[in-house]
Amino acid sequence: MNSYYGYINNYNNTIIITISSRRIIYNLLPEPYCKKCSFPKATDECRWHHSDTMDRTYAIGLYYPKRREAEDTLSDHIRRLKSSKFYARPLGYAMSILIKERYQELLEIDYITPIPKHRDEYKPVGKTRGIYNQAEELADIISKEINKPKNNLLNKNKPWSQRNKGWEERQNIPDDIYSITKSKIKLEGKSIQDIQGKSILLIDDVRTSGATGSKCASLLKEAGANKVYLFVAGRDAGDQETLT
Ligand SMILES: [Zn+2]
Repeated sequence: MNSYYGYINNYNNTIIITISSRRIIYNLLPEPYCKKCSFPKATDECRWHHSDTMDRTYAIGLYYPKRREAEDTLSDHIRRLKSSKFYARPLGYAMSILIKERYQELLEIDYITPIPKHRDEYKPVGKTRGIYNQAEELADIISKEINKPKNNLLNKNKPWSQRNKGWEERQNIPDDIYSITKSKIKLEGKSIQDIQGKSILLIDDVRTSGATGSKCASLLKEAGANKVYLFVAGRDAGDQETLT
């Protein structure tokens, strides 16, 4: 099951995924983009990653929340992933192919860690009420495809949404929202199993300001992680047309 075929088309900067004879085309990040935070049109002077604590943010492409399938399949699938697990497959396959063919430095990581959700934030699945975390669904697929273990190092202690918050407000995620998963902490916090000296790849569906990834990366680095990267399906750059 889950057989697919996929490749990067460097000529038009797309990735093509075929699942059960259905062909899906995603637009990749258009050059130039910031090699630290994936913000479009940005080069060395990018001012959109000033508070980033992860070493780099990777993305399949840009995410425009209002674009529908006919004009932008990637944005459409990221939006649909919020209510249908199926879309984790093409998105997760695309992320895996990019790691294997374009971002091979990520093959050196030790663990894949999904950005956690709080139980109260889980979405209903289909007609029956189920629960899932989009980031976890993507992480499961990537873990299998690139053969690296998934390790849920982080916990979300209460609901918290960055939606409908301004840029400044987004930077101030309270300290008690995320924590290192308790079972990972040994010896009363003096030694943190699985994190010391490790390189960790965080997975999420979308990055906007980067505050969530930074909060999680800071926790992991304080616990001794060597490198922390973030890979998202879509880089939401806001209304970049109006940004200078
Ligand atoms: Zn940047």
